[in-house]
Amino acid sequence: MGVFHGSACSNCRRENLKLFLKGDRCYTEKCAFERRAYPPGQHGQGRTKFSEFALQLREKQKVRRLYGLLERQFSGYVKAALKETGITGEKLLTSLERRFDDVVYKSGLAASRNQARQLITHGHFLVNGKKVSIPSYLLKERDVIDVHEKSRQLVPILSALEGVKRREIPRWLELDAPQFKVTVKYSPKRSDITVPIQENLIVEYYSR
Ligand code: SF4
Repeated sequence: MGVFHGSACSNCRRENLKLFLKGDRCYTEKCAFERRAYPPGQHGQGRTKFSEFALQLREKQKVRRLYGLLERQFSGYVKAALKETGITGEKLLTSLERRFDDVVYKSGLAASRNQARQLITHGHFLVNGKKVSIPSYLLKERDVIDVHEKSRQLVPILSALEGVKRREIPRWLELDAPQFKVTVKYSPKRSDITVPIQENLIVEYYSR
């Protein structure tokens, strides 16, 4: 599981992007990024000119934090993407999108990625009828996630489903809230990822 050092909100401010690390709070006016959209620290509001390397590093850190991964885990995804045919950056992002924890969070079954991981490792979900408790499990087209029948009254799941009205579910996922079910309609494409990411900078960082 990814570990964050420092406050989650500082990470959003440092990366100049809402990383949605704090569940429901992220969708309210209490969000620190909404109130102070500049990097934390003494020089946060100053103008900084970044070197090419610093830009590559920042982009890599931003995406790594967005998906809540440790460096070792993240570089594993990059290495796998480099071995695939096609555009490396796209392969990287679409693999990250298919992670079980990310899908559980984005489909509305959990309020945050951290909560999704906890629920997954505690065995509250089934994939195609079988219990899967690995957050990094990669989903594919037509997979169906169900909340275990015994877990359907869990407060975190019920309140996440309640809060889902505030967010937009990616179009490649379909949530059937009354049935506690999510279907992967198709494998995500680059155009389905709406967060501003310059994945070419990440590939350049690892190709140095
Ligand atoms: Fe980021 Fe705002 Fe959520 Fe804090 S509340 S983690 S700043 S999105």
